[in-house]
Amino acid sequence: MGVSPNEIGIEWEKVYAERAKGMRASEIRELLKVAKQPGVISLAGGFPDPTLFPVNEIKEVTDFVLLNEGSDALQYGVTEGLKQLREILVERMRKEGADIGLDNLIITTASQQGLDLIAKIFINPKDTIIVESPSYLGALQAFNAFEAEFVDIRINKDGMDTDILEDTLKDLIFKKRIKPKFIYTVPNFHNPAGVTLSLERRKRLVELSEKYQVPIIEDDPYGEVRFEGEALPPLISLDRSHVITLRTFSKILSPGLRLGWIVGDPEVVRKIVIAKQAADLCSPSITQNIVYHFLKKGYLEPYLEKVRVEYKKKRDLMIESMEKYFPEEVKFTKPEGGLFIWASCPKSINTEELFFEAIQEKVAYVIGASFYAHRDIHNCMRLNFSLPSHEQIEEGIKRLGNLLKKKIGK
Ligand code: PMP
Repeated sequence: MGVSPNEIGIEWEKVYAERAKGMRASEIRELLKVAKQPGVISLAGGFPDPTLFPVNEIKEVTDFVLLNEGSDALQYGVTEGLKQLREILVERMRKEGADIGLDNLIITTASQQGLDLIAKIFINPKDTIIVESPSYLGALQAFNAFEAEFVDIRINKDGMDTDILEDTLKDLIFKKRIKPKFIYTVPNFHNPAGVTLSLERRKRLVELSEKYQVPIIEDDPYGEVRFEGEALPPLISLDRSHVITLRTFSKILSPGLRLGWIVGDPEVVRKIVIAKQAADLCSPSITQNIVYHFLKKGYLEPYLEKVRVEYKKKRDLMIESMEKYFPEEVKFTKPEGGLFIWASCPKSINTEELFFEAIQEKVAYVIGASFYAHRDIHNCMRLNFSLPSHEQIEEGIKRLGNLLKKKIGK
């Protein structure tokens, strides 16, 4: 209902809290609306391939849960999460080398809530945090909502540049007398950059965290979606006391379940439990029960294997198509896992302006500037290969390649 002519509407801008004034709608969500126009091939979103979802297995365990555990599954649960599920996840993390117990782990309503809770318990207005450049947009949004100041560290093919990180830490702590609250990193198949933090840099990163006493937030939704190369140790396995790890079922099973988990020092986990009580009391009991039985039945590994095989095919096809259709001036990453390829165009190309021309050509990507805390880089784009079909990948890259060639003057 709108405001009637005689009524004086509330000036909401004056009512909002300071922190809400700085909040902006996720550009990705806005752009995805444009990308959904009929005929547009979207290489934009970060959606898993829905044709692979294990619908039958989920149906089987859901039927089982409702038949046998319906009264628990439809009830509130404890804030920490379903104990049996937490136990399985502790075991999983131990296999990856993390020396943890039950009090190190809490279930969250997927990782986006994890990021929000981390921000809620650590960030005061104007606190400095260290992020990667580029960085995951949803994390920037979550931290921004608590009025963080961002210092960004460049990443290259081996992930965050730890030499620059050390110089930055020294400068902040000793010269500017600013102690950053944490260092936020996506170590595997980075969103958006597609790169992976090397073993050497992993070790250096935890050393720096210890030396300067700045915790690390390791956000790792994609580590298990590795389709090539050797798995690298998670940061939490290198240092249990300085690292807080966020994991999610979104990319390894289904984002619709809205389930993830955080691993960290028991003291931090207890604080997160309190923060989560105010946020949603508990994550959905029913999906926790479903996921628990899905894991117990051993359904996750075969599903993940299928995902890895199919995503590798799609990644290969996208890279092949980029080699064929993109002008050679455009450089791009070749991720060993995950969902994204990051393309860097010559500086003369502004991918924000190009986006609208791309939509005319009926192809969409995500504008690179959205992933920079200071929005200071304008020549990059993120391309997703998990959602589009093989035909869409080839045709979408061809359309984009032709547009880029025209811009470069080829
Ligand atoms: N972190 C990163 C790096 C992501 O890419 C995403 C999803 N795109 C999330 C967190 C949040 O995912 P979810 O809330 O579905 O777990």
